[in-house]
Amino acid sequence: MISLKTKQSFCALLLSMWATPAFASFHIVIDPGHGGVDKGAVYNSIREAELVLTVAQKLQTLLSKDPNFLVTMTREKDRAISLPERVKTAEKANADLYVSLHANAALDQRARGVEFFFQNNMPSDEDSLFLANQESQAIMNARDLHTISGGDELSKKGDIAAIVEDLRRQNRMFSSLRLTKALTTIWENDENAMQATIKQAPFYVISKTSMPAVLIEIGFISNPREAKRLQQKDYQKDLAEKIYNALVSYKEKMDNSSAKNLN
Ligand SMILES: [Zn+2]
Repeated sequence: MISLKTKQSFCALLLSMWATPAFASFHIVIDPGHGGVDKGAVYNSIREAELVLTVAQKLQTLLSKDPNFLVTMTREKDRAISLPERVKTAEKANADLYVSLHANAALDQRARGVEFFFQNNMPSDEDSLFLANQESQAIMNARDLHTISGGDELSKKGDIAAIVEDLRRQNRMFSSLRLTKALTTIWENDENAMQATIKQAPFYVISKTSMPAVLIEIGFISNPREAKRLQQKDYQKDLAEKIYNALVSYKEKMDNSSAKNLN
């Protein structure tokens, strides 16, 4: 049997393993979808690959000016790059966050709005997520007792690795959801903004990255009204600013919760 104090310090150790130190530079990978021979969605004269690269470059400029952020682009120009390569870039950079940019197209020209996707394989609402996190905490405590009170050294290590992996996965899901919430808040506070929705889908880049990740569909190029807006430089700048503001707000929230965890 281990004391509550030992359990608490074990949990604090695990939390500190992933906690982002407050005020440290926050490394963001911006991933403009498609590129090169892969034009993405094409509608009239609009090519998704070019459009998202333009917005990504504007976002890169904003983040580069802010000392709180470091930025890596998966592609800087119009070139083809595979999905595993994009994930590899993010892993190599040891990034804190992955932001993939895409533009939507649909047969129905009425389809509209911005969509924020995060990793699936989880309950669909925040309450369920909270519940899932509580459950995993209970599992962690049970394993904690089991591994520390008995069992051989090897199984202890294996169980601890599994606990750490569980916690990392939960943390990534929570953080990704938190990021999508920060994005929708920015959109909802602007009455001229396109309608924004949070969705879940198993996109490769947001499922395979080990850091929190979001895929943003910046609007429908098949919707005449949105297509017009998406081509305007001012609107592209506004889009980049909105994403930047959401990232600033997300980082602040993360810094605050890290500070609480470490105190
Ligand atoms: Zn796309």
